[in-house]
Amino acid sequence: MNLLMKNDHIVEIILSLFRWVFLLIAGSYYYIYLDANNLGFTILFLFGIVYMTISEFALRKTPINSKIYLFMTKVSVVLDYIAFLGLVSLTGGADSPFFPTGYLIILHAAVYWKFSGGIVASFLLGAGYTVILLFNGYSFQGGQLISYLFDWMFLVFIGVLGGIIVTRERTMRSKNTKLEDIARQDFLTDLYNHRAFQEDLHICSEDNHSLMLVLSDIDYFKSVNDRFGHLVGDDVLKKIGTVVKEELKDDGRAYRYGGEEIAFIMDATNSEEAKACLLRIQSVIRKLRFTAHAEHFSVTMSYGTAIFPPEGSIDECLRMADERLYEAKRLGRNRICWFDDQVEEGHAR
Ligand code: GH3
Ligand code: MG
Ligand code: MG
Repeated sequence: MNLLMKNDHIVEIILSLFRWVFLLIAGSYYYIYLDANNLGFTILFLFGIVYMTISEFALRKTPINSKIYLFMTKVSVVLDYIAFLGLVSLTGGADSPFFPTGYLIILHAAVYWKFSGGIVASFLLGAGYTVILLFNGYSFQGGQLISYLFDWMFLVFIGVLGGIIVTRERTMRSKNTKLEDIARQDFLTDLYNHRAFQEDLHICSEDNHSLMLVLSDIDYFKSVNDRFGHLVGDDVLKKIGTVVKEELKDDGRAYRYGGEEIAFIMDATNSEEAKACLLRIQSVIRKLRFTAHAEHFSVTMSYGTAIFPPEGSIDECLRMADERLYEAKRLGRNRICWFDDQVEEGHAR
């Protein structure tokens, strides 16, 4: 239920249900109270059925956020407005029992256009309603004037209140998204953090897409700290984070797995391309030159890789990547232990 409340799809489903209910009530009202041969009503009724069926189709059968979905949900606000004016004018103008459906249209407009949507919708409804009353010969005097002004007042109140509530909710939502992003990010390297790695791994294991998992570790990093201090060590981590991100681009994601360990989840639809990308990263890191205390130095990394799904479950793959990383360390560091048991030695520094 919580998930349903998180997006506007549930609002659209409820509104669509309301529309069908109103169509049923309007149809019954028509047969009970109005002339059965009222052409205007028949046209309006058919218009309702056609556009509501199309909109229902868009809601149920097209992906959320697809162009058709977004177009239909927004256009339905305008079509609802037209239906509202037709329905109110055919069912007694100021005495129409359908007048409150206007409040729903205002709230619907606020969902898409926030505060300005709520206000503009309330004024457009008020204006359309006024035109209907003028055509119906409404007197705008005495009790009629007061009732008319009350109708206007409620339209504007709903527009203002609905607009404020939706605007506040949208601001909170975008803040939450930002907070979620921050919670997934590593502060020092600007890579994703371990928590994001576990989350993404879980998602990947479900959709079975071909991936290359990589666990890597900076070689002899303790000695960098010991020689130059932790601040210099931090700068090295930061720089490596930056270049890894630049090199990976859309080919995968990099995560700070632990202290000086970086994990990668890379697209392996083409495993040769994934390999080439990791080789590029290895080479770029090796070529980085750092300067501290008037000394120049560089660092190397060791890498263990595994391919999902052929090498087992995602957890098994992670274990294999870890084993291969240890193997790379054992063989002398500065190398990649590939999933096909090949070993790629890094060049001399
Ligand atoms: P190996 O080649 O076996 O990986 O050697 P190593 O020295 O890199 O490995 P070891 O596990 O002995 O040391 C890891 C070092 O990484 C120790 C720790 O101080 C350092 N480290 C971990 N996280 C950070 C960090 O955020 N900043 C700095 N400056 N150092 C860190
Ligand atoms: Mg380590
Ligand atoms: Mg290390």
